[in-house]
Amino acid sequence: MPEIRSGGERVAAQEVSARILTFRYVVALAILAMIAVASHVSFTRVLRENGGSTFLNVVSGQQQTLVQLIARYASQYAAGDVSAHNRLVREIDHLSADHDALIAHMDAAKLPEAVIAALRSVYLGETSLKARIDTYVDTARRVAAAQPGSAEIHQDLALVLADADGAVYQGLRRIVDIYNAYTIEQLRRLERMQNSMLAMVFLTLAMEAGIIFNPMVRRIVHYTTDLLQLASTDPLTGLLNRRSFLDSAFAEVRRARRDGAPSALMSIDADHFKRINDTQGHQAGDEVLMAMATALAARSRNSDVLGRIGGEEFAILMPGVSLERAMQMAERLRGDVARLRTPTESGFVSFTISIGVTLVRDDESELTPALNRADKALYAAKSAGRNKVAEFTGADEPIALSEGAA
Ligand code: GH3
Ligand code: MG
Ligand code: MG
Repeated sequence: MPEIRSGGERVAAQEVSARILTFRYVVALAILAMIAVASHVSFTRVLRENGGSTFLNVVSGQQQTLVQLIARYASQYAAGDVSAHNRLVREIDHLSADHDALIAHMDAAKLPEAVIAALRSVYLGETSLKARIDTYVDTARRVAAAQPGSAEIHQDLALVLADADGAVYQGLRRIVDIYNAYTIEQLRRLERMQNSMLAMVFLTLAMEAGIIFNPMVRRIVHYTTDLLQLASTDPLTGLLNRRSFLDSAFAEVRRARRDGAPSALMSIDADHFKRINDTQGHQAGDEVLMAMATALAARSRNSDVLGRIGGEEFAILMPGVSLERAMQMAERLRGDVARLRTPTESGFVSFTISIGVTLVRDDESELTPALNRADKALYAAKSAGRNKVAEFTGADEPIALSEGAA
């Protein structure tokens, strides 16, 4: 049994489910906004960290070159090329300043503990790169201060050359390696982060589709179908109302015309219906109308279009049916109804109907003229005593009547 709920309850239930959908939508939007903010914040942080380490990486790489340049200029100067002196002093100053900046920056760059520990162990650990570079700078300065060709200069030059290819160069190389490894790890982290953000966005969108849009679309379809149904049918009998009958019936006329077939139209009206209302009550009248609709529907074929086009007035459009055949069908309908004994609150009710029949003409582009002719025939049936079937054969021709049991 379907759940029976009052109109007020239905509206309240719809409001609740609309509120739930809106809540879900807002939550989904909030999740997407949070993902966007989290992604922005973490990307900015990683990029900033990377910027710091990239600076240190570049300067460390430069130091390797400076160490080599100093060794070259020191050799040239020691060999008597005094023009190399200025370049030698400039590069020694450069190395020394960069070295101090590097050590200072290392602490300020907000690198992870493990990276700082690795850098410290190279700079300040057992082999102390810092001390070696200080010594290298001092030795190189001594070369620059000595006379070319002197005995001391050769002794210091040998130390400079040995360090330039040995411990200092190797130490700087290890520093560059540490920064490189850190940068690669950061990029991988960035990639992993980006992948998981993307997965979260897709998950949220899938959730939106599943729990917001899908139920929303289903509700829209459901209500639209309900509204169309309400707008096109008569609530008492469930038959098409006048407007939809006219539309649907004429669509069938067109279909029949394509096959070169005629279409017959019946206008059907309950006789002295007002009396039933007056004597048996309005409720009994409604039950009679329902019984009448059921009897008409029982005789109709699938292709026939049946409608309630007025209070106690019905119509049937029969595509592919000749006037003669329509008259036979109308006569059967009349007989069916006349034999009915409809149970109502106030006992069994018998009633009769009158029917007017006509054909839809080929030159007609709507149903109304045919309906008017069927009504004319119907009134003729009424005037002839009711419980009769009449056909409209032509505007000026007399109306042919089929006698019912009066
Ligand atoms: P006739 O044989 O000439 O058609 O007479 P009649 O009494 O059937 O026709 P009339 O037009 O005088 O009265 C029709 C009545 O149908 C009047 C109206 O109150 C009643 N009616 C219209 N719609 C409904 C309805 O939905 N339910 C009920 N119970 N009565 C209805
Ligand atoms: Mg009537
Ligand atoms: Mg009427």
